[in-house]
Amino acid sequence: MEVWQQLIRDSVHTVDELVDRFNLDRQVAEDLDEHFQARINPYYLSLIRYPGDPIWKQCIPDIDELEDFDGIDDPLNEDDMSPVPNITHRYPDRCLFLVTSQCGMYCRFCTRKRKVGDYEKISMKSLESAFNYIENNPGIRDVILSGGDPLMLTDVMLEKVLKRLREIPHVEIIRLGTKMPCVLPQRITKSLCEVIKKYHPIYINTHFNHPWEITEESTKACSMLMDAGCPVNNQAVLMKGVNDDPDVMKELMQKLLYIRVRPYYLFMADQTKGTKHFRTSIEKGLEIMEKLRGHTSGMAVPHFVIDAPGGGGKIPLLPKYVLHQDEDRIIMRNYKNEVYTYKNIKDEVDSAKIKIEVTKENDKSLGEPKHLRTQVETVNQC
Ligand code: SF4
Repeated sequence: MEVWQQLIRDSVHTVDELVDRFNLDRQVAEDLDEHFQARINPYYLSLIRYPGDPIWKQCIPDIDELEDFDGIDDPLNEDDMSPVPNITHRYPDRCLFLVTSQCGMYCRFCTRKRKVGDYEKISMKSLESAFNYIENNPGIRDVILSGGDPLMLTDVMLEKVLKRLREIPHVEIIRLGTKMPCVLPQRITKSLCEVIKKYHPIYINTHFNHPWEITEESTKACSMLMDAGCPVNNQAVLMKGVNDDPDVMKELMQKLLYIRVRPYYLFMADQTKGTKHFRTSIEKGLEIMEKLRGHTSGMAVPHFVIDAPGGGGKIPLLPKYVLHQDEDRIIMRNYKNEVYTYKNIKDEVDSAKIKIEVTKENDKSLGEPKHLRTQVETVNQC
């Protein structure tokens, strides 16, 4: 048995353990277990500094999960967009392929908690029909392996999946959506990297939410994946009591960049049943973005998005930087609230002949703060 498998085996997961170790009321622990089981491996458990801290909140079951009556089981409508079991096909050229129900840790905020941890709901028996679906849909050029966590597969099983996908000529990109570098970095072994290397291009989308998760072990795991040729991107979720603070978020993004992981997305928490206590206001998210943009490298600024309820896809949100726009000019403010005007030109038939003229000036005529308020601006990129 490999070290990471032993750590999974040594995880806290029974009602008795939850009662003994975290002082949960037995009935509450039983109800929580029924609702969404726990798995807290010894590595992630060791990151907790005090009860109720940002690491604790992400992994220890909480009575608040039972008191969310407005949440939705499948907030992104993944099941209705599933042409065959284990596949969600929302965008024309890419699809989500669920290859396991298991994870290195069960996150209390999980969007897919209706399925995760249940072998019946993400069944290995359905892999064949999923492969057939991808083979028969030549428009799919990008496959995102998820679950559960695809790195819960053994190296042998993962290689079978990767090899089969690589035999499909139209599949250009394979992505692994994995939280392992963060929650169980011991999973990133030399032999795993040897497998991955054979099936490039493979991209890793991982999931760090708090700077305390960036440790010697997780840094090494990310480095090994990058040294094996995988770009590693991070998808964080904004959560109350975890990272809803501009300084915490800035530290997270800067640390990610320092370990060469690219901050990719910052998600508003989904409206998943049992997770309402994690949700923050949209204004809080915009405030955080306002305090990142310009105050640190653009490489450390993720796209702030809402994954639209009902399956609308990711929609980016921005603080209001455009103060006025007409056919002659656009008036904008920068991160210091200084106002600038950029002169527009009309589109010509031959766009190659378009000349761009930039004028930078402070526009005193606009007045002060009422123009500088932060507002929501949305653009659908789907
Ligand atoms: S690792 Fe991902 S799929 Fe698994 S419980 Fe956490 S958020 Fe859900």
